[in-house]
Amino acid sequence: MSASLAHPIIVIGAGVGGLSAAIRLARQGYRVQVLEARPQAGGLASGFTAGGFTFDAGPYILLDKPGLEWAFAQLGIAPDALPLTPIEHVYHVLHEDGRATAFDRSLATTAAGFEAQFPGSGALYKAFVEKMLATHHNVQPLTFHSHPGVWDVLRNGSLGSVPFMLSSLASVLDKAQLPPALQASIGIWTHIAGQPMTQAPAPMAFVPGLFHGVGSYYPKGGMRAVPELLEAEARAAGVDIQYNTKVQAIEAFSGAVTAVMTTDGDLMPATAVVSDAAGIGTYVELVEAKPNKMLQQQKQELQKLPLQSPGTCAYLAVRGRQPPYYIRFKLRGAGCTAFVQPGLLAPELAQDGWYPARLISPLAHPEADALGAEGQRELIDQQLAEPWWQEGISEYKVLHRRTTFEWGRDYNLYRDSMNPVMTSRLMLKGRLAHRSPTIKGLYLTGSSTHPGQWVSFCAIAGVLAADCLAHDYRPAHA
Ligand SMILES: Cc1cc2nc3c(=O)[nH]c(=O)nc-3n(C[C@H](O)[C@H](O)[C@H](O)COP(=O)(O)OP(=O)(O)OC[C@H]3O[C@@H](n4cnc5c(N)ncnc54)[C@H](O)[C@@H]3O)c2cc1C
Repeated sequence: MSASLAHPIIVIGAGVGGLSAAIRLARQGYRVQVLEARPQAGGLASGFTAGGFTFDAGPYILLDKPGLEWAFAQLGIAPDALPLTPIEHVYHVLHEDGRATAFDRSLATTAAGFEAQFPGSGALYKAFVEKMLATHHNVQPLTFHSHPGVWDVLRNGSLGSVPFMLSSLASVLDKAQLPPALQASIGIWTHIAGQPMTQAPAPMAFVPGLFHGVGSYYPKGGMRAVPELLEAEARAAGVDIQYNTKVQAIEAFSGAVTAVMTTDGDLMPATAVVSDAAGIGTYVELVEAKPNKMLQQQKQELQKLPLQSPGTCAYLAVRGRQPPYYIRFKLRGAGCTAFVQPGLLAPELAQDGWYPARLISPLAHPEADALGAEGQRELIDQQLAEPWWQEGISEYKVLHRRTTFEWGRDYNLYRDSMNPVMTSRLMLKGRLAHRSPTIKGLYLTGSSTHPGQWVSFCAIAGVLAADCLAHDYRPAHA
């Protein structure tokens, strides 16, 4: 097939989204060249070594096993190629008033814990989880469409779920009539985005259904095992990956992609480009095209979207563990801090009684900017000094600290952000399209595109972006 194309498909970035797109295209016979600015694959999901311990740089939990399995199936990867450890004791939340709530894989155990604290809430929680599971089951197939529209919704029998999909997490939780402390702890995944629940999209309410239902997982070898597997599969499929190669510009002529220019000054002709670099950054910083009205307008619209910060992270070696919960959160207003202990799921990580652990602090993007690098370093120090995460830990060493500015520099992020924050408003408009509406031959994958930012979603996005491209470039006789 690619014999008919004069130049390769260039994929910018070897994150989960870029690698997945590359595999999908290569397996269909396209010549694929991945250009990655960093010396290794995986982007935010890659591994990171400090003080003799290897950490996952960013992600720590696989919440959507079915989504990742769907993507793997499209990429020809067997599900057992990524062995997974199920997480029994998922997370614990310390509230500002000193109360604690906890979530286990078992719905019955979790609901019984709530019932003991807030009489009547156990049954309400079970009813809420069952309703969310049913709604998730109904809308999940839409995740696998590049740009789900009215017809997809109708064909999928999901019309009844539309009002839910367009509402906010706060309104869904209010309807469930759960006590405020439970609402706050169910909504913890929006606190991670530094986002109020009134702005968060309703599908965040699926999370408890997912971990009580299909379970949540820690891959053997850490979350970094996902891009490691994808990189190996990409090579096996014939993808050429060039590291330490940063793209400075995507060149377009007469509204169509022609080439990319690297920061070393190499002009590399391309039939089409799939960008796994930040979606907004791709348009605002990379596309070099004669400005037309639509493109200008698109850039202006994109620049107005609120951004999601990666927050700060302290990579630690700790002596001792704080069982049984894998993640311990401490709520702080609309935000939180998370203490993550992979040593509870993978005891083999121990070295002379020391375990790797992380203290992660999400920050709203404007707050991260306002604090500045010095302010963020002070914040990390303050949080390290707090006693709540140190219970059961006799000693700790800080092996590395990362501010949002360091995330931006080390992982080539757009304005030190991961992607646009998923608000209920953006849900209504849709994330960035996989097929560029303004530049022919430009496709987008990764966390800024549908269906979103979880590692599983980025892999799905890679498949969907590749399929848009393959549809557009299929030979006339096919
Ligand atoms: C602290 C933190 C915790 C998280 N927790 C979870 C979690 O528990 N579970 C979960 O599922 N997800 C989690 N995530 C989100 C998840 O890690 C990301 O959304 C996902 O890894 C993004 O993948 P991607 O392919 O979209 O982009 P990226 O990982 O950002 O990859 C993009 C790649 O493109 C390269 N690149 C960028 N610009 C250029 C250029 N101009 N030229 C060449 N190369 C370029 C970059 O170097 C990078 O390698 C977390 C993220 C963070 C930061």
